[in-house]
Amino acid sequence: MVTADLHIHTTFSDGSDTPQVVVEKASALGLRTIAITDHDAIGGVEEAKRTALKLGLEVIPGVELSSYVEEGSFHILGLFIDWQDSWLNDKLEFFKQQRELRGKKIVEKLQQLGVKISMGDVLSVSGNGSVGRPHIAEALVKVGAVASFEQAFEIYIGKNRPAYVQKYKISPAQAGEIIHKAGGIAILAHPLISAGNEEQISQIMEMGMDGIEVYHPKHEEEKIENLKRMAERNGWLITGGSDYHGEGRTLPSLGECGVDNARVEKIRNFWNNLRKNAIKTDKREEGLDFLEK
Ligand code: AMP
Ligand code: FE
Ligand code: FE
Ligand code: ZN
Repeated sequence: MVTADLHIHTTFSDGSDTPQVVVEKASALGLRTIAITDHDAIGGVEEAKRTALKLGLEVIPGVELSSYVEEGSFHILGLFIDWQDSWLNDKLEFFKQQRELRGKKIVEKLQQLGVKISMGDVLSVSGNGSVGRPHIAEALVKVGAVASFEQAFEIYIGKNRPAYVQKYKISPAQAGEIIHKAGGIAILAHPLISAGNEEQISQIMEMGMDGIEVYHPKHEEEKIENLKRMAERNGWLITGGSDYHGEGRTLPSLGECGVDNARVEKIRNFWNNLRKNAIKTDKREEGLDFLEK
């Protein structure tokens, strides 16, 4: 039975529900544990925890980082990260700024294509959240350039479409390193969306991942069992979540995918052991000079 949804977005990135609303909805659904995993942002964790305390839910602090290899992009989830860590907050602030710069580049491309849209239109959708393509898609709907959210991706901002711009590039290994240095565990998110085959999944997993998101709404039912067996064979932690972005934003509903309590405890135990051996030093910058300031 799904009692835990370990992949959720809020208004702190490209979700349309505030952390408070997410927690209230999760509670109403009877979920016991949720992970808040905004893109490049952890600001939503505090509000979620505050609400969860009142409602008797557990909130696992998380984040979703985008990474790239030659063949394409892979999303890496960090779970149980130390969300109050100033070092981590610094790093995420950098990524957030990079996202805003990339948003501006996308808007410029749209303008060159003749679309009447400004960065102000985008920022009025994103608010304080780290800017993502879903904000731009919604802004495109608002200014009347497209008929729907999906059409914005199909015509303009989807991969290989004319206004697509990549984000700041880090590798899966570097994403994993940041997560580990912030006290968390690294999970390869929705591998069946990103990877072409098992070999590619293994390659990314070997770049320092602790676990893999087996259960995700976009994973085809008949491929899930195979992925689960692959994870068990390799001793990878198994996670799952809905990748909820709010009701208006494409993916299925909160709690639709996830794991049971026994899996949550396995993940927690793994993290507890990792934590015992981890030493937080002031040398965390070493090896991270790919982050230009
Ligand atoms: P970004 O991180 O800014 O590149 O935006 C990626 C996010 O856009 C994903 O997490 C999804 O929420 C959303 N997204 C990506 N591709 C599509 C698509 N084809 N249709 C709808 N939403 C999409
Ligand atoms: Fe997203
Ligand atoms: Fe993702
Ligand atoms: Zn996500």
